[in-house]
Amino acid sequence: MAVFGIFGTETANVGLSVYYGLYALQHRGQASCGIVVNDDGIFHAYKDSGLVNEVFSDRVLTNLGLGQMALGNVRYGTMTTKDRINAEPILINHSKGKLAIAIDGRLVNSAELKNEMEMEGSIFHTGNDAEIISAVIIRERIRSSSIEEAVTKAVGRLRGAFAIIVMSPQKMIAFRDPQGMKPISLGKRQDGEYVLSSETCALNSVGATLVRDLEPGEIVVFKKGQEMCSLRDYCNKCQEKLCVFEYLYTARPDSVIENCSVHLVRKRAGAMLAKAHPIQADVVIGAPDSGIDAAIGYAEASGIPYGLGLIKNKYIGRTFIDPGQNVREDKVKIKLNPVPETVKGKRVILVDDSIVRGTTMACVVKLLREAGAKEIHVLSTAPEFKNPCYYGTDIGSRDELIACKYTPQEMASIFGADSVGFLPLADVYQLGASGTCKGYCAACFDGNYPTEIPQPVNNKYDKKIHNNT
Ligand code: 5GP
Ligand code: MG
Repeated sequence: MAVFGIFGTETANVGLSVYYGLYALQHRGQASCGIVVNDDGIFHAYKDSGLVNEVFSDRVLTNLGLGQMALGNVRYGTMTTKDRINAEPILINHSKGKLAIAIDGRLVNSAELKNEMEMEGSIFHTGNDAEIISAVIIRERIRSSSIEEAVTKAVGRLRGAFAIIVMSPQKMIAFRDPQGMKPISLGKRQDGEYVLSSETCALNSVGATLVRDLEPGEIVVFKKGQEMCSLRDYCNKCQEKLCVFEYLYTARPDSVIENCSVHLVRKRAGAMLAKAHPIQADVVIGAPDSGIDAAIGYAEASGIPYGLGLIKNKYIGRTFIDPGQNVREDKVKIKLNPVPETVKGKRVILVDDSIVRGTTMACVVKLLREAGAKEIHVLSTAPEFKNPCYYGTDIGSRDELIACKYTPQEMASIFGADSVGFLPLADVYQLGASGTCKGYCAACFDGNYPTEIPQPVNNKYDKKIHNNT
């Protein structure tokens, strides 16, 4: 999921800029997308299921019109949340005005909050955390003198990993969870417009340059005619816990997170793999797209040549997102093709970013064997993925995770590979060492969740009925 916002003062085609921003963030979610343009307090919105360039035709973009600020989102979803109704930003009319909200991330206490709000009479239409968060903000808004005061109070109720942008008729407010688990950056254009983006790669696409990342727990407020205002001390100081998977998989390699290039982190991961798993081989190849940088890093560190071993069809998105297993297997086959000239008769090291369910790797190894690879040594820049993620990655339970059931040796025989190796867990915390991040969430690998994890909700109303009968 990703958020992108533009705040200017002059009337301009801000909707088009958000479109370009979302286009650059498409890798973070392909299920649905949406843009809300704010023209002097009048909101024009459009959202739907589908990719950014499918949903936003010229006509739709023209109809959004001009404005002074705009907000957009791309999201991915499970089968049930892919529908148009779940597309963001969420728009709300409330007693004190209007609100648009978009989120990257997930709350771990959404069930509890939803239950609480429903007991007070709220009605929810979507399966989205954004809707629950907007309800919490609006409840606070009724008792507060400003939207930023309401947001500040509401954020205290949110638990989880999130980067959120809220737009009111007059203001744009962005905030990051207290542990900075999700990234969000602030940029500026030459004409003075501020840009907020989940990743820096989208700043470049709208001609903005990076000012800085939002700090963990920071709230920034933009209002016409005023300097940007930053609230940093509203929440208890927490230790930073950036999602390390952002570096390994989620982000685009040309993005910079916490002053550390994603491309360089991946290359470093490849070099660490070369040290942990020195293998005699003829060629190193990467699984496109997110395994390529690390394969180059392994090749550089080991002296074994890098080769172009797999080609990805550019018109296919990220396959993992599809929940049905059959769909996923089919997609791997049509997504990747081996280059026999690179692998035939060779001892091949194949680097990928991660092995989660093992579906991709089993298919890729088969393809490489068919293309004549003599030996195949599989390496993953993510350590063994052993715990579900509650912060936005689509992994429900441990039974889905291959590393929970099998050793690397067993995985090798399942995949038909000669060996399987992972980045050592200790290395993962060093990946962003050249940047400014002070700590990581690596819960998927080490099981240390930085927050409480979702609990089934005890619905008081149900209980009451039950007690009465
Ligand atoms: P597996 O096939 O083992 O279940 O998943 C691993 C593959 O999916 C890797 O190629 C990796 O690049 C990709 N992947 C890992 N995590 C995610 C994720 O959260 N979303 C998407 N779309 N792909 C992922
Ligand atoms: Mg992949």
